[in-house]
Amino acid sequence: MSELSGLQIFKYLPAAKKAEHTNCKECGCPTCMAFALKLAKHQIECEKCPYMPADLKEIVVQNAKQPQKTIEINGVKIGGENVLYRHEKTFNNRTAIAVVVDMQEPDWEKKLEKIKNFEIKRVNEILKVDLIIVKNGNIDGALTFDDFIKLPLKEIVDEDFSKTAEELIETRTKAVLEKDEKYCDPVYVYFKHTDDLNTLCAKASYYICKYANMLVFEDFDEYLFSALMTLRQNIFTDPQKPLQVEAKIYEFNNPDENSLIFLTTNFALTFFAVANELESLPVPSYLVVTPAEGMSVLTAWSAEKFTAKVAANTLKKFDFANKVKNRKIIIPGLLAHMKEELEEEIKDFEIVVGTVEAFAISEFVQKMK
Ligand code: SF4
Repeated sequence: MSELSGLQIFKYLPAAKKAEHTNCKECGCPTCMAFALKLAKHQIECEKCPYMPADLKEIVVQNAKQPQKTIEINGVKIGGENVLYRHEKTFNNRTAIAVVVDMQEPDWEKKLEKIKNFEIKRVNEILKVDLIIVKNGNIDGALTFDDFIKLPLKEIVDEDFSKTAEELIETRTKAVLEKDEKYCDPVYVYFKHTDDLNTLCAKASYYICKYANMLVFEDFDEYLFSALMTLRQNIFTDPQKPLQVEAKIYEFNNPDENSLIFLTTNFALTFFAVANELESLPVPSYLVVTPAEGMSVLTAWSAEKFTAKVAANTLKKFDFANKVKNRKIIIPGLLAHMKEELEEEIKDFEIVVGTVEAFAISEFVQKMK
């Protein structure tokens, strides 16, 4: 059984049944509802209420068991998942990506060098291979294959895609919903060498989503790993903490008072997409980032987190009108409908409607010239 909500717990308590001891406060909470809400968040023990029915107690005790073990391998944590779907709470540890280096293979040193040098920067994070597993030898700081196979992990064999996928789903479901101890070890899928990287990418992507705690590859390919790490970063973000950057004015390529001025919200993915483009422009620029609780421009606008007032206040906060002579601010194309409203609120600047997509900024700037 998945975790009970406060309301589900409340239904078992005296107040919901209008029974004796309703809101008696013996648990230290002002009402049964307050107790139920605390219990759902694990902020109080069930023993505090002497009138809790035995069936609820049993469910709470069962739920308190950790569904999946967490293990740490060379500083990389895997497992410890409590939910089937990220939006139920959050996923705790991202799927680790490991590569096997076999020292009996002729090009193993080149492969090792490539793995060590591989990194991609995305949304303010450096993504690298998590673990190197060494076969037929030892490399400083790496895990040997013999030690790897002794770890308390369960291998789910990658033979037939649908069978592997079913087994991954069954294992996670049994661990999370039934808290079945037979299924509580984190799981990994081992990919033997293949020349078909497209199929490998498709399978590995699926297993990242559902439900491998670790993927072990005999192959190493920069493009494959870039795709998988990008997907993994998207899946394993915490939905309770939107990806956001600081709302402020960012500078690209040493701007001066006449440089271009762009504006967007503080949603990290939007910020980095725009920032990448501005960095590579042949001209310097500013990027005004407004606070929007990490929402993308259109979502922020519809939730009233991006308004003309918010934009005007951000400029005021940084006294921006007095710092620059350029009087044009380029807004995202998705906010074209706000042009007049923004111009009314931001008296010092003319509003120019920019591109819908960040990748088109360079062409847009060329045309502006
Ligand atoms: Fe309700 Fe139990 Fe707390 Fe009394 S002790 S208020 S019955 S939850």
